[in-house]
Amino acid sequence: MALNQFAIVESTLREGEQFYTANFSSNDKVQIATELDNFGVEYIELTSPCASPQSYRDCQQLTQLGLRTKVLTHIRCHLEDAKVALDTGVNGINMFMGTSSLLRQFGHGKSINELIDLVAEVATFIHYQSPQTELRFSPEDAFRSSLSDLLRVYLAIDQLGLINRFGIADTVGVATPNQVFNLVQTLRQCTDKEIEFHGHNDTGCAIANSYAALEAGATHIDTTVLGIGERNGITPLAGLIARLYTIDPEQLARKYQLHQLLPLHQLITDKIGIKIPFNHYIIGEAAFSHKAGIHTKAILNNPKTYEAIDPSDFGLTRSFLINHKLTGKHAIANRASQLGLQLDTLQIQTITQQIKALADQQDLTVEEVDELLYSTFNVQHNRNPEEEFKSVSIQPSAISYQQVAG
Ligand SMILES: [Zn+2]
Repeated sequence: MALNQFAIVESTLREGEQFYTANFSSNDKVQIATELDNFGVEYIELTSPCASPQSYRDCQQLTQLGLRTKVLTHIRCHLEDAKVALDTGVNGINMFMGTSSLLRQFGHGKSINELIDLVAEVATFIHYQSPQTELRFSPEDAFRSSLSDLLRVYLAIDQLGLINRFGIADTVGVATPNQVFNLVQTLRQCTDKEIEFHGHNDTGCAIANSYAALEAGATHIDTTVLGIGERNGITPLAGLIARLYTIDPEQLARKYQLHQLLPLHQLITDKIGIKIPFNHYIIGEAAFSHKAGIHTKAILNNPKTYEAIDPSDFGLTRSFLINHKLTGKHAIANRASQLGLQLDTLQIQTITQQIKALADQQDLTVEEVDELLYSTFNVQHNRNPEEEFKSVSIQPSAISYQQVAG
């Protein structure tokens, strides 16, 4: 898998609209599409123009924004839907249809042969109406469909020569990385067309599954900001970026504007009324916060010891938590030096022990730790504590969690 040979299909404006608190206005969509374009995703996917009159107008408007990213919409495999989608001027159309026995029996009610005929009819129509429109077909619920049914569908449609890309959808999030790898690899051996993976996160495998898809030869991965989508969503954009960063950070930085990751997420959290989860990849509050003394010492010597990802590549900063019983003398020395206080090794060791003892008995604030440092310094230099506080410009709370876009 080469990092320059895959594309992100960013579906915050389609799958993400299906998230339980999402209700994007037209203005929201323009803002979000613009930020996604700034970040550098190759595609954005929009809700079907058949969903509502506003959805139709939004498809038209976003297509006319002049973005570098290609604009796709996602439709049922219906001739009428295809006509409406073409009418909006989008760059590409993503068709889907269920192939699992559950969806065939309780969803559209068609046999595999009927399904192939319908896809062929709609694909032929789109291609002859607009040969330049990128066309994708994706069987829904691929991992609960029989492999023979899936391959019959893929091979029959591939022979038409009308489809640019095949989708593989883990619609209910049941697939494991091995299953995804095997299915993508099998399809890779059957066709030279692009392969797109869409993975739901019901069982926590969405990022690993997306990565397995890339390893097996997939070319496109669907994501949403924060992973929002139907139920608990799909592969989160930041999670995929984190996974890929560890392979080749320079290449990833050339492909995407990594400093835009946090502002992009802040925009979405504002729109959907949800905070960024503390443990979210790269941009979560805890992602670069270091606490244990052993970790802090090593990080201060060389950040690579306990960080697989460099926060500065994303315009973020790491933080060291010092006001707790797990703190260490290196963290405390680092804090003293941040405050501009020259203390010797013995003083730092004594203060560290004091902090540990105090933290065993009560919650300590950063300000209280700073006071200990200041008072030791002032006693040593026989200075007026009031004056000393005024002369130091750094904010006492600066060591608590910091996260700034740079
Ligand atoms: Zn989905």
